[in-house]
Amino acid sequence: MYCPECGTLIPPGEEICKGCGKYSSQIREELLALSEKMPASKCKKCGADVYTGQHYCVTCGVDLKA
Ligand SMILES: [Zn+2]
Ligand SMILES: [Zn+2]
Repeated sequence: MYCPECGTLIPPGEEICKGCGKYSSQIREELLALSEKMPASKCKKCGADVYTGQHYCVTCGVDLKA
């Protein structure tokens, strides 16, 4: 999965994001909370739902601010 904060790829089993030092368990909880909200838009690259406050696409890692 990709870190929604910094866009770094977090391999399965990895405990901490190498980009920003966030715990993957914490990130997963945030993603769960986000998925309960209505998507704000779609990723231009892969079409995945994008939620308010996300800086990077969780599916493909594209920079959503660009
Ligand atoms: Zn990160
Ligand atoms: Zn995407």
